[in-house]
Amino acid sequence: MKTLADVDQKIKDRKAKVYTAMEFKRLAENEGTISEDDVDVVTCGTFGVMSGTMAVMTVPVADPGVFKKADSITLNGVPGNVGPCPNESLGIVDCTVNGTARRDHDYCGGHLFRDLVRGDSIEVVVFSEGVEYRRTVTLKDLPTAKIILIRGAFRNYTGFVNPSKNNVKTIFSGPQGLQGDFAAASVSGCGEINPIQNDPDLRFLKSGYPVMINGSCGIIMGTGTRSTSKKPNLFACADMKGMDHTMMGGFITSEGAECLTSVGVVIPAIDGISIKDLSVRDADVDLPVADVRDRIPRDSDNYGSVWNAGNTRVVFDKDLCIHCKKCSADINCPVEASPSRGILNNTKCISCGSCVSTCVGKAFFCDLGSLNYVGENVPIKIRQSSRAKAEQLCMELKKRVEIGNWNLRGD
Ligand code: SF4
Ligand code: SF4
Repeated sequence: MKTLADVDQKIKDRKAKVYTAMEFKRLAENEGTISEDDVDVVTCGTFGVMSGTMAVMTVPVADPGVFKKADSITLNGVPGNVGPCPNESLGIVDCTVNGTARRDHDYCGGHLFRDLVRGDSIEVVVFSEGVEYRRTVTLKDLPTAKIILIRGAFRNYTGFVNPSKNNVKTIFSGPQGLQGDFAAASVSGCGEINPIQNDPDLRFLKSGYPVMINGSCGIIMGTGTRSTSKKPNLFACADMKGMDHTMMGGFITSEGAECLTSVGVVIPAIDGISIKDLSVRDADVDLPVADVRDRIPRDSDNYGSVWNAGNTRVVFDKDLCIHCKKCSADINCPVEASPSRGILNNTKCISCGSCVSTCVGKAFFCDLGSLNYVGENVPIKIRQSSRAKAEQLCMELKKRVEIGNWNLRGD
């Protein structure tokens, strides 16, 4: 059995055998029997709507002495929560901003965090004793800006269907809601490459363990809110400075915007238990399926019904676009990837699949699969997690480990 120190030394010496989760699953399938001698670490990741995301920031607003204590703050119109420190008369405001806090239906904290990380200028408005103070800031102006996940990277999620006759407005949909009469299923979760799925008993993913949040190195602080042994999730933190704006953002649902977050980890293969855990496949990962109206699971499928090798990316054939007056694919895209202009914005596109059914010209392709729910076979129409982005994250993490830029003990 290897120790974490052994593996760290190999990483430092650039001698570690590093696999992405996708590569490791293929290796396990092709080789049949593998041991901890064949692999040192496996990179795992997930990307999707994570409503348990928040930011902690220190925002300079005015010169010292200009106002005593902030009563409220908005950033690009997104409301923050002032405090806990009052910072009396310093002209700065400590605040938290929830990823789900909304300026309006289509813009939330998730969009704000992405815009900050992208280097955009942000409009700050503070009220103190009835007087308004305004300032424009960028991320560079904020002495502290950290993302905290109070719960994220759930081991598995729930799939939703709508048995009613009517469209249901829900956060588990894209902008158009979830179609009734079992016409559409919504899914989340990255299945076999999800971090906790590859360390289900949290042998490694515990307090003090390094994690990558939105492309920035951070630390796990234990399990998150509503975490259970059957359905664990992570509590974690990372600095916004160093994040990658393409690995985070906002997702527009019919109930308003939600926050997109990515989480990556490097899991060591130290013994037979690790090898067994890391060999998990989509078909082994349960996916409870619930009625979206009461959210009570009444059936169960698995992630083999959601993900297969050919369906992680949505493909756009611009020659099939008939240039509709109003592009329905564009209107129903939750991340404004603007597919109507003849070019799919691949940086923004998260391959959610919404446009496959909403595009009039049938110019988008992807076999999104279907879920079983009490005798009904319900086609998946929207994916709130992106396996394509999560795979990108696994590859990025692999590169970091290969150049010795990772340490399992967080030293
Ligand atoms: S709906 Fe489809 S065919 Fe129509 S403009 Fe949009 S991408 Fe083109
Ligand atoms: S697959 Fe991409 S372009 Fe199509 S709706 Fe989803 S994010 Fe938008």
